[in-house]
Amino acid sequence: MTPRQLLESLIAIPSLTPGDAGCLDILENLLQQNNFKTQILETNNLRSLYATHGTEHPNICFSGHVDVVPPGPLEAWHTDPFQLIESDGNIYGRGTADMKSGVAAMTIAAINYVSQNPNHPGTVSLLFTSDEEDSSRFGTPYCLDQIHPKLTAALVGEPTSINHLGDEFKVGRRGSLNGILTFTGKQGHTAYAHLALNPIHQVLPFLTELSQIIWDNGHGPFPPTTLQIANLNSGVGTFNVTPGELKVQFNVRNNPASPHEKVIQTVEELLHKHNLHPAVTWDDSAQGFLTENQHLQTTLSQAIQKHTSQIPKPSTSGGTSDARFFALNNIPVIEFGPINATIHAANESIPSADLDPLTSIYQTFLRNYLENPNS
Ligand SMILES: [Zn+2]
Repeated sequence: MTPRQLLESLIAIPSLTPGDAGCLDILENLLQQNNFKTQILETNNLRSLYATHGTEHPNICFSGHVDVVPPGPLEAWHTDPFQLIESDGNIYGRGTADMKSGVAAMTIAAINYVSQNPNHPGTVSLLFTSDEEDSSRFGTPYCLDQIHPKLTAALVGEPTSINHLGDEFKVGRRGSLNGILTFTGKQGHTAYAHLALNPIHQVLPFLTELSQIIWDNGHGPFPPTTLQIANLNSGVGTFNVTPGELKVQFNVRNNPASPHEKVIQTVEELLHKHNLHPAVTWDDSAQGFLTENQHLQTTLSQAIQKHTSQIPKPSTSGGTSDARFFALNNIPVIEFGPINATIHAANESIPSADLDPLTSIYQTFLRNYLENPNS
């Protein structure tokens, strides 16, 4: 089977998140026919597929999701979103970029590699989930708890290329932390300010200093950590009332040089310095991570350069993905896949010519990862 044929059958299944709607049966049958051992991991009515070939260490895992976001208004599409259609050098359909091409290419790459090298070193594994576009709670985190022995490393086939196949791959993601500070003063008449306590006046020097903190100078491929004050709410809307309360909401995008604990401590010390005692709420919206595994990065970079004319850039941009759960389990993880320009949009597509080189990159990566462990 070609990656194109497999992709065609996956696109034809409207696997709206959460759920696989039968995509995993197609993948499981195909992998079983090619001598992979397969297992359906199910919890909360949500299925994931784990397949392995070999039993030895290291276990290198190709991972992805088969669920897709809804197509949105069909009038915006030039084609049926659940049919693979080629036009103008592109293949269209919901999931072509995010991320059924990655799933199809990884599956065919793994099958081709093990059929050409039935006695390969290590273990080739695949983990496909179906709630990445939803809560992400019952797919990857659940499966990583169930899989023993633990995976050695993972490649997530999310779409990471920007303008050309192979121009970027991801080695980490920034973290995100929200803070809410509620300052209480004493409401009064602006003409009798000595009887009131204006929290805006109290807090301004602190806010100025907070907005000017230099957290770090970046960290490896990460840009410097930033803090942005996103909301300031106070006052009753008239000119003659001193407000009784000021609420400040801010968001921090951090790299590993400024972990969440350090950010929290710095803000609390600054409050103390200004003798301020607000109610404080922290919301740890996502922990960042960085994969410093050179073997993984070099192997992928060389495979990309072999099959494209790109020198790939390791990047940490973008929102969150299931890659973070591998990092949380101390499994080195890297992300690479097709061009992401149309993900979640109408007329989602990738260039038709990218599917075969993508498959070749994954296959070369697999071979070099397992056969040149010290490259
Ligand atoms: Zn995705």
